[in-house]
Amino acid sequence: MAGAIPYSLGIKRRVIVERHSLAFGFTIAPADGTGFAFPALTSYGERTTDGIDYLSIFPIPGGGMRANLFMFRDPNDPIMREIRREPKSTLLRLIPGLRPHLGDFKVTDRVESWVMDLANVEGHLQPGIVLIGDAFQTSCPAAGTGVSRLLVDVERLCTVHLPGWLKTDGMGTEKIATFYSDHDKVASDAHAFRMAHFRQALTSEAGMRWDFRPPPAFPAAKSQASC
Ligand SMILES: Cc1cc2nc3c(=O)[nH]c(=O)nc-3n(C[C@H](O)[C@H](O)[C@H](O)COP(=O)(O)OP(=O)(O)OC[C@H]3O[C@@H](n4cnc5c(N)ncnc54)[C@H](O)[C@@H]3O)c2cc1C
Repeated sequence: MAGAIPYSLGIKRRVIVERHSLAFGFTIAPADGTGFAFPALTSYGERTTDGIDYLSIFPIPGGGMRANLFMFRDPNDPIMREIRREPKSTLLRLIPGLRPHLGDFKVTDRVESWVMDLANVEGHLQPGIVLIGDAFQTSCPAAGTGVSRLLVDVERLCTVHLPGWLKTDGMGTEKIATFYSDHDKVASDAHAFRMAHFRQALTSEAGMRWDFRPPPAFPAAKSQASC
């Protein structure tokens, strides 16, 4: 939904990688009404051919635990329908190693699913308007960079740029442009794209190169680097 307001302003989405990743989210609980024996659990795909990056299970308010499953696979693959219709059996088939950890469990709500494009925008440099977070650039959910990117945008906008802009009249594009070219913002957006490509390659490409490769490092922020 983050794209609705920009669209109404004539701002266009520029798709960089179409249908880059799939994400599924649903809530699980032990069948006997007790709790799971773990506080949280992350399980990675067992084979590169299955296209599974990882499953993340974590507690949520209101009871039960949320299971987020991240995959790099063709969205037309029957697996999409199988996970939505039969989440429990499909999950155990895809990641058999989960069985002893989850025991007998049930899925307590509807499976939500997302097909994510990697995209940013064009036509966004407009007077009086700043796009932040996913409205400016989508994030691969598996890379886990969406919230940190959003926070970098907010921090740079509110502590560096806005105070200066408000000292003089007007909110023209020359002011707005300084936010979009902010060193730390540009670095954080670029890092998110690199992490998105890294997770996809790690999941889909077999071999020693990926077995030992560390994730891309986030470049030191300008302000930190100068300390
Ligand atoms: C399954 C999944 C798991 C993820 N896991 C992670 C993770 O572990 N770590 C991480 O960092 N990121 C994760 N992400 C990505 C992260 O959720 C997003 O990058 C982040 O939420 C972006 O924040 P945002 O505020 O830019 O956009 P959004 O969170 O999309 O917020 C935009 C808000 O604007 C509202 N809105 C839209 N149009 C209107 C309108 N016209 N009027 C009023 N309100 C409107 C929407 O309802 C929405 O609440 C995940 C994403 C998914 C789908």
